[in-house]
Amino acid sequence: MRNVVVLGSTGSIGRNALDIIGRHPDKLRIIGLAAGSNYEELSRQAARYCPTHVTLAEKEASGSLQSGWPHAKITILEDTGFSNAIETISSLPEADIILNAIVGFAGLRATAAALNAGKIVALANKESMVAAGPLLNKIAEEKGGKIIPIDSEHSAIFQCLQAGLQGEISRLILTASGGPFLRRDSLEGVTIDEALRHPIWHMGRKITIDSATMMNKGLEIIEASYLFGVEPDKIEVVIHPQSIVHSMVEFCDGSVMAQLSRPDMRLPIQYALLYPERVELDLERIDFAAGIDLHFEPIDRGKFRGVDLAYRALREGGISPTVLNAANEKAVKSFLDGKLKFAQIYDLIEITMDDIGTGDAPELDDIYRAHMWASDLAEDLIFSL
Ligand code: NDP
Repeated sequence: MRNVVVLGSTGSIGRNALDIIGRHPDKLRIIGLAAGSNYEELSRQAARYCPTHVTLAEKEASGSLQSGWPHAKITILEDTGFSNAIETISSLPEADIILNAIVGFAGLRATAAALNAGKIVALANKESMVAAGPLLNKIAEEKGGKIIPIDSEHSAIFQCLQAGLQGEISRLILTASGGPFLRRDSLEGVTIDEALRHPIWHMGRKITIDSATMMNKGLEIIEASYLFGVEPDKIEVVIHPQSIVHSMVEFCDGSVMAQLSRPDMRLPIQYALLYPERVELDLERIDFAAGIDLHFEPIDRGKFRGVDLAYRALREGGISPTVLNAANEKAVKSFLDGKLKFAQIYDLIEITMDDIGTGDAPELDDIYRAHMWASDLAEDLIFSL
C-alpha cells in the first residue's frame, strides 16, 4: 500500500489523480490533500477520501473548510511562524508519494520539501523543475528522493527509457499538438476565448494559454533537460497534431522508442503512482489495423517564439530559466486579465530576460529572489510595451 498526498487536488490533474487512486484501494491510499482556495471542492474530497491532513494556501478560505468529516479525524494544517503548511503536508513521515499538481512557481516549495524528506514526487508541476531543476536534482540525490514525471511528454520519455540507459540517449524528441493556432498565420488579435480553446486537451487555464503560445513546449524542453540530464542541442520539438505519439527517445544505435496512446492524462498519472507496475486502464485503444494517420511537421519558430526563448534560457543556465518562468507566469496572468495582448507575451518574457541577464543560483533562496525580481520587473515592463 502506498500513502499518497495530492497537492492541487481540486484542479484538472488533481481530480484525475483522485479518480485513479479511487480505482486502486488495494494499492493506493490518500493521506493528504491540498489546494489553493477552493474550500468547497476540497471539503467534498476530504469527506470522500478521508485523508489525515488537508490544507489550503489561502488563509481565509482555510477558515471555511468544513470540519466534522465522517469516518476520520482530519487535521487542517495552517502556516505558523515555525512551519509552512504546504511543506508540512509534503513531508508527512507516513507519506510515500507526493503528487504535485499545483499550478505555477507556487509548487516549488512543495517539490523541494518532498525531495528533502526523501519522498517520491509524482511531478505535474513543471514550473518547479523549470525554475530550480539543478537544485532539485541535487536535493533528490542527497536525500534519496525521486522524481517521476506526469507531464505526458516526460512520462513518455521516462517510459521509453525503460528500453535503454541514460548514457545511450542520442536525442529526445518532444511532440507538440500545436495548440489552437497551429494553422493561423498570425498571432495578432488572438482573444482570450480563442486562446482558452485547446483542440485536444482539457486543462487548467494557465497551461492552456501556455499551450496556445507554445511556451508550454519551451517549459517542457527545460524540464526534459533537467529531468533526463540531456543537453539542449540533443532535444528536438516536432509538431504532431494527433497527440498519439507523446514523445520519443532516439538511442545511439539509431533505434527510436516512442510511447503511443490516446491523449488522456490518467495514463501518465497512473503510471507515476504505480511505477514500475502497469495495471488495466479503461483507455480507448488505438486501432492500427483500421488505418491511422500519424503526421509530423516542423514547428514554426518564427511564430511560436517561446521555443527559442526556452533554448536560450537553458543554454544561459543559472537563474535564466527561473526568470523566463516568472515572466511567463506574469504575462499569462496579464493576458487573462486583459492587460496584455497575446503576441506580447513573448515580448514581455524576452525583455525581462534581457534586463535581468544571467546569474548563479547556488541555493533555493536565490531562486525565490530571482523569481520575485523577475515578476516585479515584468509587472513594471507591461506598461512600456
Ligand atoms: P489547474 O488550474 O486545473 O489546477 C491547479 C491546482 O493548483 C488547483 O487545485 C489549485 O487550487 C491549486 N493551487 C493553486 N495555487 C496553489 C497554492 N499556492 N498552493 C496550493 N495549491 C494551489 O491546473 P492543472 O491541473 O491543469 O495543472 C497543474 C500543473 O500540472 C501545472 O503545473 C501544469 O503545467 C501541469 N500539467 C497539467 C496538465 C493537464 O493536463 N492539466 C498536463 C501536464 C502538466 P484551487 O482550485 O483551490 O485554486
